[in-house]
Amino acid sequence: MNAPNDSEVLRVVIIGGGLAGLCVAQGLSRAGIAFDLYERDESADVHDQGYRIGINTDGARALYDCLPENLFNLVVATSTVPLAGRVVLLDNELHEQVSRPLPTPVSEVRSLPGIASRLPFAAVNRQTLREILMHKVRGRVHFGKTFTRFEHERDCIRAYFSDGTAAEGDVLVGADGTRSAVRRGLLPDAKVVTLGHAIYGKTPITHDALGWMPDSLISGFSRVHLGDQVALGAGAFRKRHEFESAAAKYAPGIQLTPTPDYLMWTLRGPHVDKSLYRKTPRELCAAAASLLKGAHQSLRRIVNQAETDATFLVELRRAEAVTSWSSLSITLVGDAIHTMSPGRGEGANIALRDAALLCRKLVDAMHAGKAHEPAMSEYQTEMLAYGFEAVARSRRSPFFKGIGH
Ligand SMILES: Cc1cc2nc3c(=O)[nH]c(=O)nc-3n(C[C@H](O)[C@H](O)[C@H](O)COP(=O)(O)OP(=O)(O)OC[C@H]3O[C@@H](n4cnc5c(N)ncnc54)[C@H](O)[C@@H]3O)c2cc1C
Repeated sequence: MNAPNDSEVLRVVIIGGGLAGLCVAQGLSRAGIAFDLYERDESADVHDQGYRIGINTDGARALYDCLPENLFNLVVATSTVPLAGRVVLLDNELHEQVSRPLPTPVSEVRSLPGIASRLPFAAVNRQTLREILMHKVRGRVHFGKTFTRFEHERDCIRAYFSDGTAAEGDVLVGADGTRSAVRRGLLPDAKVVTLGHAIYGKTPITHDALGWMPDSLISGFSRVHLGDQVALGAGAFRKRHEFESAAAKYAPGIQLTPTPDYLMWTLRGPHVDKSLYRKTPRELCAAAASLLKGAHQSLRRIVNQAETDATFLVELRRAEAVTSWSSLSITLVGDAIHTMSPGRGEGANIALRDAALLCRKLVDAMHAGKAHEPAMSEYQTEMLAYGFEAVARSRRSPFFKGIGH
């Protein structure tokens, strides 16, 4: 995406600084379009943002389109060593029951040049990706700003925040996640259903752990069925390169939080529900350990050696399909519109795809000297089609039955 001639024509207000919102910011910044991003958190590191996100071709392509080359290369350099490319179902004794290749990427696969072709089906650490996406746009990111509502003015959209301030733009982008306040204002009847809950944890992959952690858990993406409706999913985050050397090579000056390699695990089972919301991370770890009583000793050890403070409860949610909306100055990206079950690991990838598509439509309109409304309409139509197809796919054909709903 190249900079248009008149860079100040369009002003974009982005609500939410997760992956989708920051990727929009990068794409607009690269094209020279003016934007401000408003995030409710007080700072970028207010809580642990460091979980593992599998990146498929959609996500890789979107990052490639939106980021300057050095930052894209830094994403690749800080991603995991590629997985074995298989999803494996294991029984209680960790014997392989079923294994199959990771599914074919969901959208048209256009070959990505050079290093990018090696990214699909690797994984990134969300906090690291977020830190990279924040680089060079941080000056336009306003923390501690909780969006509450918008109003259509005669020639702009005004966004209001809980601290009494407001921001104006020609375009408002809701990138505020699964409980989106922008969606509530735009589509008050849109429904999001809760599918269940899971305990999420991380266990450091130390030199010692490599000696006892089952290889099947760290080399691919696995799910262990433990009976009594207890199931554990696992995947490793093992860096290709040390962050410090990668940062020095591709973006000197960027601060990346040091992140030891880890095995992420999710645990579902009886009583893993909203009653656990009040539990501390230590109590969640204890609840996970009690679900694994009687399980293979390696699994118990994984939970016993987890980084306690990094344990949290995840609510799994799914949006019901939305057909369209009429305002062409307000739009939604990512979980704000099509939150989905993690059954195929597509939520973040589709969120990044939205960001890239929206930026491309807006930039093309600017270059053609056209108004933004038709571009927003095209974005809306395309995004709703592939976004809700991904929601349906996450239910219809998850990696394993029982994850999607
Ligand atoms: C444990 C876990 C593992 C996952 N693994 C994968 C995976 O492997 N692959 C994959 O594709 N997807 C995965 N996902 C899903 C993925 O994380 C989400 O789909 C993705 O992060 C959505 O990005 P987003 O930017 O739309 O929303 P979010 O990341 O939720 O960002 C929304 C942002 O908006 C801010 N915000 C919210 N409300 C307001 C407000 N009123 N005002 C201002 N700011 C606001 C929030 O603080 C947040 O920063 C996983 C999710 C979880 C929880």
